[in-house]
Amino acid sequence: MMRGVLADTVSVLVVGIIALVGYVAILWVATAFFVWRDARRRSSSAMFQLLALLLGFVPPFLGALVYLVIRPPRTLDEDRALALEEQSLLDLENDARAMRPCPSCGKEIEADFIVCPYCRTQFARRCTACDRVLRLGWAVCPYCAEEVGHAPVGRVTRTG
Ligand SMILES: [Zn+2]
Ligand SMILES: [Zn+2]
Repeated sequence: MMRGVLADTVSVLVVGIIALVGYVAILWVATAFFVWRDARRRSSSAMFQLLALLLGFVPPFLGALVYLVIRPPRTLDEDRALALEEQSLLDLENDARAMRPCPSCGKEIEADFIVCPYCRTQFARRCTACDRVLRLGWAVCPYCAEEVGHAPVGRVTRTG
C-alpha cells in the first residue's frame, strides 16, 4: 500500500517536472523568437539579427533582457516615419520662404521681400528699431511701438 502511494507521488512529481521543463523550454524558445523578430524590425544587419538570436537563447531569459538594453531605440519603421516627419518639417520651413508673384510686375519673388528686385516696386518696409516687415501704410511698428512715420511710397531709386 505504502509503495503504491510512493510510486504515485513519484510519477506525479515526474509528470510535474516534465511539464515544468516543457513549459520553460517553450517560454525560452518563444523569448528567443521574440528577440529575433524584434531585431529584424530594428536592424537590417544580418550580423545583428544573428547576435540577437544567440542572445535570445544564451543565457536563457537573461540574454533577452540584455538584448532589451542594447537594442536600437527605434524600429526601422519608426526611423522611416521620423525621417518623413523631419522631411515634412523641412518642407514647411521652405514654404515659409515661399515665392509669390510681385503685385506689380508678376515675377516670382520671395514672400518676405520688401522691394521687388525686378521692377523696384516697394510694397513693405522694415522697422528701423526691430527690423520686422511693416506695411507701407503703418505709421507705428505694431511689434515694438517704434514711431516709423509715413512711408515713402513709390519706387526705390539707386542712391550713390
Ligand atoms: Zn516687380
Ligand atoms: Zn519695430
